[in-house]
Amino acid sequence: MKISFHGAAQTVTGSKHLITLDNGKKLLLDCGLFQGMGDKTEMLNTTFGFDARAVDYVILSHAHIDHCGLLPKLVKDGYKGPIFATPATKDLAAILMEDSAGIQESETKMRNKRLALEGRPLGKPLYNTLDAFAATDKFVQIEYDNWHKIDNNIEFSFTDAGHIIGSASVHIRITENGKQTNITFSGDIGRYRDIILKAPAPFEQADYILLESTYGNSLHEEFTPSSDLLLEWIEKTCMQKKGKLILPAFSVGRTQEILYALNQLSLENRLPATDYFVDSPLSVEATSVIKNHPENFNDKIQQVMKVDKDPFDFPGLHFTKSVDDSKRLNFRREPCVIISASGMADAGRVKHHISNNIENSRNSILLTGYCEPHSLGGRLKNGDKEVRIYGQWHEVNAEIGQIRSMSAHGDYNDLLHFLECQNPAKVQTLFLVHGEYKVQQDFSKKLTSKGFGRVVIPAMHEEVLLS
Ligand SMILES: [Zn+2]
Repeated sequence: MKISFHGAAQTVTGSKHLITLDNGKKLLLDCGLFQGMGDKTEMLNTTFGFDARAVDYVILSHAHIDHCGLLPKLVKDGYKGPIFATPATKDLAAILMEDSAGIQESETKMRNKRLALEGRPLGKPLYNTLDAFAATDKFVQIEYDNWHKIDNNIEFSFTDAGHIIGSASVHIRITENGKQTNITFSGDIGRYRDIILKAPAPFEQADYILLESTYGNSLHEEFTPSSDLLLEWIEKTCMQKKGKLILPAFSVGRTQEILYALNQLSLENRLPATDYFVDSPLSVEATSVIKNHPENFNDKIQQVMKVDKDPFDFPGLHFTKSVDDSKRLNFRREPCVIISASGMADAGRVKHHISNNIENSRNSILLTGYCEPHSLGGRLKNGDKEVRIYGQWHEVNAEIGQIRSMSAHGDYNDLLHFLECQNPAKVQTLFLVHGEYKVQQDFSKKLTSKGFGRVVIPAMHEEVLLS
């Protein structure tokens, strides 16, 4: 059999790995959208590098759009098989794919207006809402820790990856010529002390491992709890400077983690009295999906829920859904905290809030997660003094900060912890995916020193033969 890497190869988005058995059967792991890749993004999202009609099965690790965002296109391009995912992943992916379709449609509309003026041929969206619904219809729910036989040669199971609600590592047993080969795809791995989720679970010995490596060369700040850091920024921005604190946050995971941390401060009577807005319809929906899956929460939050039924809601919190309500925040003069998507600040309402507030030194922008270097969040993190948003240059006068300890991705200690259940000598090849090349090179050395004899960093569309 062989495996080819059609995304998240020496980069962090577009996760797509295709296993082809000797009998020709094809199994696709994830089908994610590329994001924040500059001019290359469109080309990467329009060409899979394989024929969608030839794929027999899809297994989805989790609902982040860089893992599920091209499923509607896969189905549109002729994929007929099932999409296996955990129940929470199915619920989340449904709303995220629909939202993504809406973004594709509206961005194409905007682009077409410009193209029409220039007399150039009009473009089509990558996929539309109906394609997203068609993809949702193909989902088959599989619970954690149960082996599921797909056909005579393939069975798989999910274990909790602790990254977002429903996130899983995928373990596949493939039998060819009477020999079983175990392949583990880590998906994105969370942290061993997440405030909401359970820790990543151990798994059976694998022959091949595809391991994410987002933070393969760094350690998160652990010394200050994220609630204390949030409190510091709220006090500095809203209380002292009377400004607005803008938190670009992924709709799924990060937003709820922030709400949970703010709720904790509220329970401890430490939360400053100001207004808190979640300004993203998707974040609002995702929050209710997450509340519907408490079976995925860790023991600590289960304890909190005994005294506080809704640990994601507190006095002073407002959810804005309509565009008008969102626009009203622009004219607001009073201090406030705005939590809005997307996390890399490359799309969504947060981009408007940043363009409206970035030039005022009273305000702060606090990045709460990983930002691809080319994205707006990445450029702010990089310390750029001027940034271009919607075609206009803006001076960066607002204070820029970041909370790394909130990452949904484990740092390299977490990644090594994830591998502790494995005998390195029995792992024939460890493929590093979902990471920047430089980070992967550093991480590769660490893994070699831990006894993993063959660590490979596959390039985009590279094909590797598995014995
Ligand atoms: Zn993810």
